[in-house]
Amino acid sequence: MTQEFTQPNKPGYFGEFGGSFVPEQLQSVLKRLEDAFYTYKDDPSFIEEYQYYLREYVGRENPLTYAERLTKKLGGARIYLKREDLNHTGAHKINNTVGQILLAKKMGAHRVIAETGAGQHGVATATACAMMNMECTIYMGAEDVRRQELNVFRMELLGAKVVSVATGGGRLKAAVDEALNDLVKNYESTFYLLGSAVGPHPYPTIVHHFQSVISEESKRQVMEREGRLPDAVVACVGGGSNAIGAFSAYVNDESVRLIGVEPVEAATLTKGKPAVLHGFQSLCLQDEEGNPLPTDSIAAGLDYPGVGPEHSYLKQTGRAEYVTITKQQVLDAFQELSKTEGIIPALESAHAVAHTVKLAPALGENDIIVVNLSGRGDKDVAEVKKMLE
Ligand SMILES: *Cc1c(COP(=O)(O)O)cnc(C)c1O
Repeated sequence: MTQEFTQPNKPGYFGEFGGSFVPEQLQSVLKRLEDAFYTYKDDPSFIEEYQYYLREYVGRENPLTYAERLTKKLGGARIYLKREDLNHTGAHKINNTVGQILLAKKMGAHRVIAETGAGQHGVATATACAMMNMECTIYMGAEDVRRQELNVFRMELLGAKVVSVATGGGRLKAAVDEALNDLVKNYESTFYLLGSAVGPHPYPTIVHHFQSVISEESKRQVMEREGRLPDAVVACVGGGSNAIGAFSAYVNDESVRLIGVEPVEAATLTKGKPAVLHGFQSLCLQDEEGNPLPTDSIAAGLDYPGVGPEHSYLKQTGRAEYVTITKQQVLDAFQELSKTEGIIPALESAHAVAHTVKLAPALGENDIIVVNLSGRGDKDVAEVKKMLE
């Protein structure tokens, strides 16, 4: 593999995917963001500040836990869990939120808006806004508001205003639409803090940058523990931010299989076709007329018909593999990890665990799998309880 895999061939493009297809008012906003990002990302004082917050506020570095009992039970590859669930606010989202809020501050914004699905990005954004004393509005699909009522209350506790969006099925896609409308109206004072590796350029590149800490750490940790690279890295894919963060440091290591896991009900990378959605070109689930199809995953964070453009490129080039998992397999994995390791995973992360349960026995005892545990499952236990009854 060559370095080309992480280097878009033109700014904002990953092969034919990515780009920026937005109304004219937004183009200058995105250009300003792009300039700020490229200015600060290599600025030593910015890096120092970002690392300070990762360490002192997020709680990094988090462990790479050897899942000894699960490994023994499955009888195959040694399984390691990258513990993003142990971050402050309980998921990987805060890595990106802290990075973007520092950018927002540098750019002089005093109001932050964001979309959220599971509520995790909303909570992470509201948290960062509270810490930085910024005004915060979160857009959330009405159905997600219902499914994740505790996260709604958390965001309000943190001082954010939560706007419930009932249109378009009331899911993540509708929330993104509304957040973009807000940005078009208020772009002069407002920073749109995007939660996944999606959206028009420069967002996928920014989110990749701030999430890459996951694989930079896991690579160092697995080398320390095992003295070699893993054979596979497994992560769930919604918009693709935890997966891109879990993959990025390994992209040029040809021997490492990169495996993204999607719900069968939102299998964008398996069943999607190229389209422009929310301002960027990527694979997308769509009907005959090219309209985005509604998705129906039990994991709100994976319930999105699009995917980050870099994943479409990794798929097209064959560098990463993408597989699907059923609801039942997710529920089984959710319980399995809880019982065998004492770790309740987020339903999203349980997709990665579910694929690992299939993959580990197919590999040898000398093989190593790193599973990205993108978040903890406390937010999901009430919903899972209902589903199991
Ligand atoms: C939001 C979320 C996801 C899905 O988002 P990605 O951008 O695909 O990572 C996965 N896991 C958890 C715990 C989440 O909160």
